[in-house]
Amino acid sequence: MNLDQVSQQDAYDQNQHDQDHRDINQPAQHQRLQPGRESEMEPRPQYLDPAYQGSHKLKGKVAIITGGDSGIGRAVAIHFAAEGAKVVINFLADEEQEDADKTLALIAEQGHEGLAVQGDVSDPAFCRSLVAQTVQHFGQLDILINNAAQQYPQGSVEDISPEQLEHTFRTNIFSMFYLTQAALPHLKAEARIINTASVTAFKGNAALIDYSATKGAIVAYTRSLAIELAERGITVNAVAPGPIWTPLIPASFSPEKVAKFGDDTLLSRPGQPSEVAPLYVLLASNDGSYITGQIMHVNGGKLVNS
Ligand code: NAD
Repeated sequence: MNLDQVSQQDAYDQNQHDQDHRDINQPAQHQRLQPGRESEMEPRPQYLDPAYQGSHKLKGKVAIITGGDSGIGRAVAIHFAAEGAKVVINFLADEEQEDADKTLALIAEQGHEGLAVQGDVSDPAFCRSLVAQTVQHFGQLDILINNAAQQYPQGSVEDISPEQLEHTFRTNIFSMFYLTQAALPHLKAEARIINTASVTAFKGNAALIDYSATKGAIVAYTRSLAIELAERGITVNAVAPGPIWTPLIPASFSPEKVAKFGDDTLLSRPGQPSEVAPLYVLLASNDGSYITGQIMHVNGGKLVNS
């Protein structure tokens, strides 16, 4: 084998390894508390495909990513750092400190500084403080990723308590208003807002009626905000993931449901966070300059009307 053939073989082996990683079927498992912990998941999710090469697409930019300690938020944080951004990750619970520290270490591996801020995005005062801490630390804010959410499955709409209903709406959608309001005075032309929606907004989900309703609201919020902010040169889009292997899944579904998670997609498996995050890079970078008011689907092949 000559050198070219050897490196082709290496690339093939690496690719096979990554593919194998994606094909692993998760065993039945459950976490008692929400938000879930990535450190308790089996197998661990993949956050960055080893073949991913950053190319300075976000050089000089500063991003806030809510729910950035784990799952999709962590993958977005690492990809943004790989593209040259400075990243602030927000997370909710004391128990997630370990996940947040790991994410900061992964950001540092990309050669960039990160900042982790603990707090509850359903509280408007905390949202103002998160933006203020970001601007104080990094001097600017260019990208807001509204990604934090919770979901509590129930057997029937009749089982959703008023407390759960309010909690889910405050966390998943009210927070997007609070953070946008706090961020806007700092966002200049070419800034980006990206919201995490869900396939449940389009397909519905009988076990997650309140959650799905917040995700539908996020779709309408994204489209409406895009109209308002277009004249300021700020784009607003959403990503609607299908089944993605993150701590939210074992922390909210039964072991039997977790074991089957993703089976109903065309690709017959859950997606990895590393397969979702590149879409956020596209939308956050100059590559996405002519995309606004859109919902992007990354769901393993579920057909949706959008
Ligand atoms: P995750 O559990 O890793 O992330 C959720 C994050 O939200 C956690 O980091 C948690 O700290 C944060 N959070 C929850 N409540 C908060 C609060 N009040 N204040 C601050 N932070 C809070 O799970 P994930 O799957 O990566 O979820 C990220 C987003 O992706 C969510 O919006 C979720 O609805 C969406 N989503 C996930 C899937 C999936 O299959 N995993 C599918 C569709 C949409």
